[in-house]
Amino acid sequence: MPQYDYDLFTIGAGSGGVRASRISASHGAKVAVAEEYRVGGTCVIRGCVPKKMLVYGAHFAEDIEDAQHFGWTIEGKSFDWKKLRDHVQNDVTRLEGLYTDTLQNNDVTVFDERATISGPNEVTLASGKVVTAKYILVCTGARPFVPEFPGSEHGITSNEAFHLDDIPKHIIIAGGGYIANEFAGIFNEFGSKVCIVNRSDQLLRGYDESLRDRLLQISLMKGIEFKFNTTFKSIEKQEDGRLLVTMQNGDQQLTDQVMFATGRVPNIEGLGLDNVGVEMGDGGAIKVDEYSKTNVDSIYAVGDVTDRIQLTPVAIREGQAFADTVFGGTPKTVDYSFVPSAVFSHPPIAAVGMTESEARMKLGGVKVYTSDFRAMKNVIASRNERSLYKMICDEATDKIVGIHMIGPESPEIMQAAAVAVKAGLTKADFDDTVAIHPSMAEELVLLK
Ligand code: NDP
Repeated sequence: MPQYDYDLFTIGAGSGGVRASRISASHGAKVAVAEEYRVGGTCVIRGCVPKKMLVYGAHFAEDIEDAQHFGWTIEGKSFDWKKLRDHVQNDVTRLEGLYTDTLQNNDVTVFDERATISGPNEVTLASGKVVTAKYILVCTGARPFVPEFPGSEHGITSNEAFHLDDIPKHIIIAGGGYIANEFAGIFNEFGSKVCIVNRSDQLLRGYDESLRDRLLQISLMKGIEFKFNTTFKSIEKQEDGRLLVTMQNGDQQLTDQVMFATGRVPNIEGLGLDNVGVEMGDGGAIKVDEYSKTNVDSIYAVGDVTDRIQLTPVAIREGQAFADTVFGGTPKTVDYSFVPSAVFSHPPIAAVGMTESEARMKLGGVKVYTSDFRAMKNVIASRNERSLYKMICDEATDKIVGIHMIGPESPEIMQAAAVAVKAGLTKADFDDTVAIHPSMAEELVLLK
């Protein structure tokens, strides 16, 4: 029997890597993890967590305005970006510490350096140290994709957005997906003039059309500008530091900042995957089977470096399933059906299951129930912002196959609704449930 230094060597201490390492260790494996940047990965360090904190911070702009309609007088209001930025970063550091503690408490050895695969059971660290492992798990995640064109180096990505010295007076955001819409909302609430530029005429591809239309209407009402069906030709830095952006359609605009939110690509460069013949799929993602195993028996991969669903809770499940399968003696796969998701735009969107058009294509007969309403708080605040809830049911069985919501707190409401959809409940089951009144969530059991 060959002797290895470790049972498992994990490359990348993000959401998937930390879960896989911790659980493998708790199953009795001797585990090491290498992380070249900060323990916590994209979600904790430069993604979901600090983003959500900025979303909270940004929303106070509207809350303070609305408060006047509820009788409050707020004098001398002002916003200090540096204060929020630093609070957020302090909390990120706190969380990084907790993640590191979790690994150490489970006797996982952490190498704060880059690792490269140098053999099917061998990893070489940046320091030159060579270690062997029975299994290698690649959890290196993804990074922002930046299109290449003259001057594209003057733009930032979401990675840098958390560390800005100042909030730009004007910002152009490239892309129309999750990150573009979330940061458009954040910057807009902080007082920036925001312009979204997208190559197609569709925002948030994959979400239900009615919700995407509603977000567009509300965003326009809030003052966010949109340019569709164009991409960037060049960015030229001016003497005063501003950026002159030229679009392919000939439009030109001066701005203080350009941010790319044009998708994310798997982090595979320089990992040594080709040294051992690990197969890649389209777009450079690592190909894996249902147990997250690559074509090399000793090498596995989970999370955004594979081409599945780019969401933290999915990476965590994949990490857990890997550990239980390989070290826990209970083979497990991840169920990718009815994965709920949310966009933390202003207002947020949440969804589970099929969109109306997907359901019509796949099922033929569908029933659609909607509620288009103004939340009570918005009525009092004279805020002309309507929520939209939509339920899609299979006509033959009455089973709910999708729920789509845009409106305040929709991700919070959706988490519980997603349990019901995943459990295969019907419209009649929702109707049988007594409403909580007055609430926004009650609309889900009162849909017509
Ligand atoms: P998305 O895939 O959501 O959106 C990418 C956008 O960029 C689309 O509008 C797309 O256009 C456009 N685009 C893609 N390639 C190019 C290109 N070559 N040139 C110009 N435009 C291009 O990516 P994001 O970067 O917003 O987010 C990355 C991933 O991170 C998401 O897919 C999601 O999985 C995850 N994420 C999840 C969040 C959440 O759960 N709340 C929050 C943030 C990120 P089009 O569609 O029109 O073709």
